[in-house]
Amino acid sequence: MTSRPASLAQVPQLLLGPAWARLESVQPDVEGISTFWLRFEDPDLAANYRFEAGQFNMLYLPGYGESAISISSDPATPERLGHTIRVVGNVTRAFSRLHVGDLVGVRGPFGSSWPIDQLAGQDVILATGGIGLVPLRPVVYRLLAERQKYGRIVLLYGARTPGDLLYTGEFEAWQAAGIEMVVSVDRADENWQGHVGVVPMLFYRLRVDPEKTWILSCGPEIMMRFVVYEALARRIPPERIFLSMERNMKCGQGFCGHCQLGPLFICKEGPVFNYQTLEPYLQVEDF
Ligand SMILES: Cc1cc2nc3c(=O)[nH]c(=O)nc-3n(C[C@H](O)[C@H](O)[C@H](O)COP(=O)(O)OP(=O)(O)OC[C@H]3O[C@@H](n4cnc5c(N)ncnc54)[C@H](O)[C@@H]3O)c2cc1C
Repeated sequence: MTSRPASLAQVPQLLLGPAWARLESVQPDVEGISTFWLRFEDPDLAANYRFEAGQFNMLYLPGYGESAISISSDPATPERLGHTIRVVGNVTRAFSRLHVGDLVGVRGPFGSSWPIDQLAGQDVILATGGIGLVPLRPVVYRLLAERQKYGRIVLLYGARTPGDLLYTGEFEAWQAAGIEMVVSVDRADENWQGHVGVVPMLFYRLRVDPEKTWILSCGPEIMMRFVVYEALARRIPPERIFLSMERNMKCGQGFCGHCQLGPLFICKEGPVFNYQTLEPYLQVEDF
């Protein structure tokens, strides 16, 4: 287990130029999504790099460009970094053609993180859809590393079909370690035994204690809007609801403005925001 730095200010941050990391392995997750495991070439950097759950790196492939990608692995083992990537366009398609041993440029870690230090003694609901589970997997690892510190931990997770569910190979271990899992799909197949329907509907299967429940949510924006609606309806206050936002990003550090939402830079002040901060901008039509 790697010791954690007292503050991120002590962590070497790769802000402008990328550092090279070697692709150690590729784990296909589901159709079109794989986890790429990277290790920095520079041994000092490999030993000293740290990240918090919810942060992302800018990953660079020469000739293709850079993409913001959440770190999906355990913050306790930062020497080996997992990034779970869905193929959607130019850069991500180039990732799907990489081979073990290839080099990837990494800048980061960037952005805010989930409020894990505030969750001691509290109930936690992780409400996520599709690839939204990626930045929440490090939270699962952090919470399970000290399971006794927290109250109930519930993972509400949905995907389009059973074949789109990520990290299913870990579900049994997560449940055995003390996570209540409620999994749902939009469209079942003949073997599906679980729930059918969208993630916010899964709140109807839970009793929540509004005095001590925190919501951490990441997924399609429409899903998060309804997660917020269900949480507020259960009198969970806005300051205990956290959302991870996604926008097209370029610089990753608040210079270029590509990811701006009102006055907020999603790359710098986010991607994880308290709902109190986000609320005025979520009211804007088609934001
Ligand atoms: C903080 C953050 C964390 C992210 N984490 C992950 C992750 O863990 N795994 C992952 O697979 N992806 C993640 N993404 C999304 C990822 O950055 C984009 O999918 C990727 O940059 C697309 O690059 P591309 O060159 O392959 O696609 P492009 O050729 O640039 O674009 C293909 C299409 O996707 C659209 N697009 C590009 N980026 C985004 C975006 N961020 N949001 C919505 N539409 C977009 C484009 O407008 C275009 O229509 C994250 C984004 C952010 C902002």
